[in-house]
Amino acid sequence: MDNDIAISVNELTKRFGDFTAVDNISFEVRKGEIFGFLGANGAGKTTAMRMLCGLSYPTSGSGTVAGYDITRQPEEIKRHIGYMSQKFSLYEELTVIENLTLFSTIYGMTDKAIREKTAEVFRTLGMEGMRDTLVKEIPVGWKQKLAFSAATMHTPEVVFLDEPTGGVDPATRRKFWETIYRASSEGMTVFVTTHYLDEAEYCDRVSIMVDGRIKALDSPDGLKNEYGAATMDEVFRIVAKGAQRGD
Ligand code: ATP
Repeated sequence: MDNDIAISVNELTKRFGDFTAVDNISFEVRKGEIFGFLGANGAGKTTAMRMLCGLSYPTSGSGTVAGYDITRQPEEIKRHIGYMSQKFSLYEELTVIENLTLFSTIYGMTDKAIREKTAEVFRTLGMEGMRDTLVKEIPVGWKQKLAFSAATMHTPEVVFLDEPTGGVDPATRRKFWETIYRASSEGMTVFVTTHYLDEAEYCDRVSIMVDGRIKALDSPDGLKNEYGAATMDEVFRIVAKGAQRGD
C-alpha cells in the first residue's frame, strides 16, 4: 500500500433494499490532508462515512482507513480514528476535565498519558480556567474545540468530522477551523462533511456527492477553474443541479 495514503475507497456501494444510498464511489485521501466531503441533504455522506468508520458494512466495494480494511478490520479502524458528530458528543452534565478523562479512558490511554494530554489540551486551547466548569455552561465555540480535542485525545491517524460546525455563526466557525488546521499540520488526516460552502474553501480537496455518487473532486481552486465559477457556492450549485435528493 502507498504509505502516503490515509483513506482509500474503491467502488464502495451501500444499498438499503432496492435503494442505493451510496453508489460506487472511489477516491483517495492523503495523510495530513483536509478532505471536504460535500453533498446536499440525503446525498449519502453519512452513510459513506459510517462505512469508513467501520460502523456499517458495505453492500459491495472495498476500502482502507489508516491502513485497515473497512470490512475485515472494523475494530482496528475504530481504535485508529477519531469521530466528532454533529452533536459534539460531549456530556453536558460533566465538567471539561471529566469529559476529556472519560474519552481518554474509553480510548484505553494510561493515567500518565491522560494527565499529559489533558494538560496539553488546556494549554493549546487556553482553557485552563474552564477545567472544572460544567460543559453545559461553556459557550458553543469552546464546546466545539473541546469536542474536537475529546475526539482526538488518542492522537488518531484520521479524524472524521460530521458537520462539526452546524448551527454556529461564521466567526466561530472560522475559529474552529484553526483547530482543524493545527491538527492537519501535525500530520492528522481530516475528513469533514459540511453544508457550509465557505468552509469548503478551507479544505485541501473537496468532493461533491450527488444522489449517492461523487460528481466532482478536486482542490477548491481546481473546481472553480473547471466549472468557471467564482466561489465554491457557485460550483456546488452547478454540480448539484438536477439532483433528485436533497432540498
Ligand atoms: P444529511 O446531510 O441530511 O445528513 P447525507 O448526505 O448524510 O444527508 P445519508 O444520511 O447518508 O445522507 O442518507 C442518504 C440516503 O439514504 C437518504 O435518502 C436516506 O433516507 C437513506 N438512508 C440512510 N440510512 C438508511 C437506512 N438505514 N435505511 C434506509 N434508507 C436509509
